[in-house]
Amino acid sequence: MAPLDPHSFTDSTHTLTTHIALSLYFDFPSATIHGAALFTLSSPHSGPLCLDTRSLSIHRVLSPSTLSPLPYSLSPFCDPIKGTHLSLSLPNDVALSSFLITFSTSPSSSALQWLSPPQTFNKKHPFVYTQCQSIHARSVFPCQDTPAARIRYSALLNVPRELSAVMSARHVDRRLPVSGEGYSNLLPNGFNSLWCSETRVVEEFDMNQPIPPYLFAFAVGELGFREVGPRTRVYSEAADGVLEAAAKEFAGTEDMIRQGEKLFGDYEWERFDLLVLPPSFPYGGMENPRMVFLTPTVIKGDASGAQVVAHELAHSWTGNLITNKNNEHFWLNEGFTTYAERRIVEAVQGEDRAVLSIGIGWRGLNDEIKRFQDNLEFTKLKTNQEGVDPDTFYSQVPYEKGFQFLWCIERQIGRPAFDEFLKKYIATFKFKSIDTETFLDFLKANAPGIEKEIDLVLWTEGTGIPPDAYEPVSNLYTKIVSLANEFKLGRMPREDEVADWQGQEWELYLENLPKVVEASQVFALDARYRLSESNDYEVKVAFLQLAILSKCRDFYGEVEKTLKEVGRMKYVRPLYTALVQGIGKEEEKILAKRVFAEARDCYHPIAQGVVESIFAKHL
Ligand SMILES: [Zn+2]
Repeated sequence: MAPLDPHSFTDSTHTLTTHIALSLYFDFPSATIHGAALFTLSSPHSGPLCLDTRSLSIHRVLSPSTLSPLPYSLSPFCDPIKGTHLSLSLPNDVALSSFLITFSTSPSSSALQWLSPPQTFNKKHPFVYTQCQSIHARSVFPCQDTPAARIRYSALLNVPRELSAVMSARHVDRRLPVSGEGYSNLLPNGFNSLWCSETRVVEEFDMNQPIPPYLFAFAVGELGFREVGPRTRVYSEAADGVLEAAAKEFAGTEDMIRQGEKLFGDYEWERFDLLVLPPSFPYGGMENPRMVFLTPTVIKGDASGAQVVAHELAHSWTGNLITNKNNEHFWLNEGFTTYAERRIVEAVQGEDRAVLSIGIGWRGLNDEIKRFQDNLEFTKLKTNQEGVDPDTFYSQVPYEKGFQFLWCIERQIGRPAFDEFLKKYIATFKFKSIDTETFLDFLKANAPGIEKEIDLVLWTEGTGIPPDAYEPVSNLYTKIVSLANEFKLGRMPREDEVADWQGQEWELYLENLPKVVEASQVFALDARYRLSESNDYEVKVAFLQLAILSKCRDFYGEVEKTLKEVGRMKYVRPLYTALVQGIGKEEEKILAKRVFAEARDCYHPIAQGVVESIFAKHL
């Protein structure tokens, strides 16, 4: 076996899948999807073929033309990171270029969160959605789950007719089910006969652009939408107020798409729709092509919500068009996207906003380097991820150190030349999956002599922050940092000094305070500015972290409320960590365990796993 990716059983000597046609029956009462999948290979293949699965039941593997069974086996043990290895044995006499698999997901599928009606806004209908990055597509359908293997797909989603579906794909039709379509007559457990029940509809989708499997995405629920631009709708649960607030928040999206096109070339994905998910969504946003998924916590009526959209939009060029070959080169996705996001923000919101965002990132990077002081491997851009769970070691390093590396190159060769370089890089590698070496070779060829000016090996393979990284400068940034320094000497900012502060200013201020301060200072700050009750979770969580670490137990009620309201890992991870990390914190540890036991069902399985790994490390 010749592995292609430390997180996949895909064998580099095997033929890759180029298209998957899926028929999926959604059974909400059992939180299960029953599926038939037709796989098309890039060329005929015989002998063994390895696929990734996790918590899937495999029912049958068949030749599509004869429907005769093909032998297969599942590994007897489930690898804790990679899942279960499905090995097919394709006939040696006639090489096949396609095969069929019927399967069922399990209620514990790591990609899927099934919400019961009480967990939704309207409390009337259930809801289900995917989060496949980094390695969770394999818990929805068997596949070569590595970004090195790009696939096109089509999908028939059979759902209760009171619900509707969206996907990271072109919507073809919403219609009555047709008997036997898409091999649905082969579905297991009697679901073949339910396919055409009068209570069901089929939502049909087609994705004709090759994507890495982690960009496969759907959501099914009671959905509504508003038009916010010529190629953008915002979708969410059809609940009072949510759609209106979202439409208002994202009204400037078309302006950002145009700025992105000016900087990076044509927008290649036709639509740029947005889906606002329930509060359990584990990320700020997920760049699913054509249909970005967003946490509702970005809707807060200031500039920073649009910055998350700018980030997901920037992925349309970096990440989705050019993709890291595997997670060891994740910085190629996120470093470039963080750079591109800030260029869009600078064009749309001005330089001050972009510099604030760089400053918050700079603080975050410095904190992450401290977090990984016992595991310096994760402070590198290019990491060795053999035996590493990408969810556990998810950090700001690929984002912010990657950003700093590209910003350093921009300063060295000048912005006009760097802009040219970026456009050429995107045009050269679009719809390809590449590694760090490919990028460096392209850089050296197109910026001759760059390796003499910048230590490229130190940047990509070295630990920590290289000496030519750069803390941003602007009047606003400098003022906020110096106010934070004055807090250390006992002076709180005056009301006139913070009168026009938005969430990001407070976030930067709080992140520049010492991790632990006198309890009396925490109370005084909150008495004046009510940060513990902020509607902006970035501010609220940064403040509550300070409160926990400074042992201000009066705020624990607010901590508990926050952990039960939202499942975004950006908030859940630091709050639980602050509670359980360190010695002499028995009360905090008991609180953390109780809150997690009560909130667990409201978190996506990925977030559940992250909290469990925090507990495993500190409890
Ligand atoms: Zn990103």
